[in-house]
Amino acid sequence: MSPSRIDASIPNVQTAALVTEFGGKVQFKADYPVPIPGNNEVLAKILYTGVCQSADQYRLSDLDTKLGTAMNADGTPVTKIKFPHVGGHEGIARIVALGPGCGDDIVIGGLVGIRFASRICRRCEFCLAGKEQHCIKSTNHLHHEDGSFQEYIALDADYLTILPDDIDPAVAGPILCAGLTAYKAVMNTKLKTGDWLVVVGAGGGLGHLAVQYGKAVGAQVIGIDGGTEKEDFIKSIGAQEYIDFKTSKNMVEDVVNIANGGAQGVIVAVGSSRAFSQAADMLRVGGTLSCVGIPAGKVFIETPVASIVIKGLHITGNLVGSLKECLEALELVKRGIVKPKITVRPFKDLENVYEEMEKGQISGRVVLKVAND
Ligand SMILES: [Zn+2]
Ligand SMILES: [Zn+2]
Repeated sequence: MSPSRIDASIPNVQTAALVTEFGGKVQFKADYPVPIPGNNEVLAKILYTGVCQSADQYRLSDLDTKLGTAMNADGTPVTKIKFPHVGGHEGIARIVALGPGCGDDIVIGGLVGIRFASRICRRCEFCLAGKEQHCIKSTNHLHHEDGSFQEYIALDADYLTILPDDIDPAVAGPILCAGLTAYKAVMNTKLKTGDWLVVVGAGGGLGHLAVQYGKAVGAQVIGIDGGTEKEDFIKSIGAQEYIDFKTSKNMVEDVVNIANGGAQGVIVAVGSSRAFSQAADMLRVGGTLSCVGIPAGKVFIETPVASIVIKGLHITGNLVGSLKECLEALELVKRGIVKPKITVRPFKDLENVYEEMEKGQISGRVVLKVAND
């Protein structure tokens, strides 16, 4: 089959949201080219996209890119980014054209996701181990390719995030980054039914999903955040207990009291250095600290080595997750066990959404309506 332009309904140009330099403002460009799907690629029309990073500050989020503060693994700022940069890695799209060589199982009209990872090698040790998010030759929708803040995107047909037809496309987007990260963070704690899980930043885009994935594995959740509005929200999604960091005199003591000696798991879903310095102290013997928020700069966990050894603590890090884990996280949303709290806004609100995020005014996740279905 020849590429997309046989279908007259697919335009040559589209609207895309561009950032042209670090810290630059978002510009909407109406004559950005629509990609032509190459060999073994699909062209997909983007219906919705989440905007990554609400109260959370974690790695390579859309807001970090906009601010120019995304972090490398050594704590230095990311400087190698494709410009003009088209952000967005929580996109939901419908396949509208197939490039040559796509398999029979890929159909026009099918729903697909746009995640952070765009392509992988399938040969390195991490790909072979099912940890392809760490692929040594991977490309992504930040450094190498345009993301979901545009109307049309070309995607690798062999690494497609194929979504179930009966999932709500508006709700599914935030699962592709925030939800997957939250799911994986919960999996890394290896909690059992009845165990205590602390989620620091429980009211945020990532945190409110970590609360629900924690509930889904049977944990009792203690949510930490600030203010009574957040308390109502966090309890409404299933947390047993709430600790307000604005009024608590000693959060470690609060957790130890509630969980009768400390929690089995702590997930830090915010990028605050204070949250990390105390987090491992909330664990009971054998507990696991699951880090997902990435503070700007070089921030350290201040738990004494003696405490880690004597209490037998585990400390794990977590970069998004694999495609398989993403589909597992989505399945719990499809079944209604996890319910992302989203607000749908027009595509052109992106700059305003960034501003509200910077001020910490958004609870849950903002999803932009990009193109019409
Ligand atoms: Zn993200
Ligand atoms: Zn690889």
